[in-house]
Parts: sequence; structure tokens; C-alpha cells
Amino acid sequence: MKKYLLSTVIFAFLGLATALAAGPIDGKWVGKIGDDYALTLELKTDGDKLTGTIGNTEGSLPITDGQVSGNNFSFKTERQGTVIPIKGTVEGDKMIISVNYNGNEIPGTLTRQGGSASTATASAPRMKPEETEVWNPVPKVITPGKTPLDAPSDAIVLFDGKNLDQWVSVKDKSPANWTVEKGVLTVNKAAGNIETKQSFKNYQLHIEWKIPEKISLTGQSRGNSGIFLASTGPGDAGYELQVLDSYENKTYSNGQAGSIYKQAIPLANASKKPGEWQVYDVIWTAPTFTADGAVQTPAHVTVIHNGAVVQNNYELKGETVYIGQPKYKKYESAPIKLQAHGDKSEPISFRNIWVREL
Ligand code: MG
Repeated sequence: MKKYLLSTVIFAFLGLATALAAGPIDGKWVGKIGDDYALTLELKTDGDKLTGTIGNTEGSLPITDGQVSGNNFSFKTERQGTVIPIKGTVEGDKMIISVNYNGNEIPGTLTRQGGSASTATASAPRMKPEETEVWNPVPKVITPGKTPLDAPSDAIVLFDGKNLDQWVSVKDKSPANWTVEKGVLTVNKAAGNIETKQSFKNYQLHIEWKIPEKISLTGQSRGNSGIFLASTGPGDAGYELQVLDSYENKTYSNGQAGSIYKQAIPLANASKKPGEWQVYDVIWTAPTFTADGAVQTPAHVTVIHNGAVVQNNYELKGETVYIGQPKYKKYESAPIKLQAHGDKSEPISFRNIWVREL
């Protein structure tokens, strides 16, 4: 009785093991026969029986009369009333087949897709989900602003509507002398460009600007200003993201609002009407230089204008220039500069300026 029980258990175990072990032919196979005829096989062995499907891009059919002997197999399929015998052999993840079509032997080669249970356990243990989990470092926790317009908790606020404490005049580094009124900063063209006291390298910038409702003049003379993403010297030296009234105001495309001045045409004109507040969200990746001043990696910029991407990780050719070709000049970190353009149209305004160092 005991012996009978034991052998029952052993046989049951062996049966289970056989059922679990995938044979060398089991699995999905993809390849070609003849010159260029795509073929997919999904095969399953059960003892010396083979079942599964044969297919191509048009669909698949069950195979018939499937037989297995070691690594060799044979089965049949049917196409438009013609029975087609197929035989083949498997070596690892490669399958060689021969298709007998109307007496002609057509060779084919297929490869295993996704591995089988047997090859997976034999050559490369299946990975666990935990092996690709990265727990460190943990991103710092910040408090987002009330809306996407508002500064997150780790932002440096450059202008919150109260004063210009974060800014100086570009020409002599004296206190910035633009107009602050009712929470709004307005360009003082006579005072010239202003820039941040602090220097930055890579960052995310949020800035809002408004062309006066009653703007005059045309083209580049209509509400021209600019945001120099890195101010590398006096005047207009640096990398200018153009600010201009580009609402139904024609000018050269690489000089309209959202352009990297005279380098990159914006991907769309997302301009609002004069008198309406507009938003730039900018991601600036500063250029890097070797010790002797050669460019190691060029600058890149992404600009979102009123919610629309207008510069998509654009690779700059160098500093923006009014005349001539752009070229790079070594810098490590630089202030952000706002342009007091010399045109005679009414001065534009800014508000809610903040930056996050990256
Ligand atoms: Mg400008």
C-alpha cells in the first residue's frame, strides 16, 4: 500500500514536471520563407504531438497533423484548397523549415521571439520587478504654486510686483531704474537694459509680459523688448529670446515674438492681442566650454509661449547678434537681462518673474 502511494506521488510529480517544462520547439517564431514571405508560427508540443498556428500579416490558421521527434517536427497547413506539408528542425533560438508547395521545397528561417520557459531559465534567469526599481536619490519635495503661473517653493522670485531689488542697470550696475507701479514693471527706455544681480547657469524661467493696448508703429519698432537668457556683456550681448508685438504685425520670422533672435523661427505664432498679458516659460541649458574657450556643448532652449511650445530644445549657434553670424563666447554663469529697445513705440511691461535653477 505504502509502495503504491509512493509511486503514485513520484509519477504525479514527474507528470507535473513534464507539463511545466517547455520543449525546444514551444513558443513564437518569426521569420521568412522563400525570397520574402513573412511567416509566424506559434507552436506547442505535447509529447510527440504538435499543435499551434501558422500565420502571416493577413491572419493565422491552426496547423494539422503536427508531429515532434526531438528537435525535429512536421505539420500541415492548407492554402486555397492545397495541403502544404512543412517540416523543420530547431537549434536553440533558430528554426530551419522546408515548405513543400506543389512539390517544390521552399526553405525558410525563423527565430524565437521572447524566449521560452526552458531557454529563459537555462541561460538568463527572469528578472524580478524589484531589480529595475531605483529608490535613491529621492527627488526633493517642493510645494507647487497655486496655479502653473505661480512660483513653486524652490523658485527664486525675481519680480513679485513690489520692487526691483533683484535687478541692476546693465551699464553701471546701479539700482535698476525702470517703473514699478501697481505690481507691474514697465520699461524705462531712457534707463537702458536691466539685469539680475544673481547669475545663473541652467534654469527654468517664468516671465509674463504685455504690449500696451495702444501700441504704435510697425515691424521691429512695435513693442520690441527681449529677454537675454544669459547676459554675457554690456548692451545686447548674450542670447535673446525676442519680445515683440507679433499679433498681426509682420516682420522677419526669425525676429518675431518667440524667436531666438535671428537664429530660430518660432514653431507657431501664439501671440495675444496688445493689452493682454502673455507668458513665456523657458528652459535654458547653458553652453559649456573647455578651458581654452572652445564650445564643449552648445546651449539649448525650450520656450513655451502662452501654453504653446515655440522652441523645442533648440540648439543655439552662439550669441544672438543684430548684424552678422552668431558665435559663442565663453561664460560660466550669467545674469538674465531685459531689453530697453530703442524704438519709439510705447514701453512694454513685465510681471511675475521667477526662476528655478536646474
Ligand atoms: Mg528685442
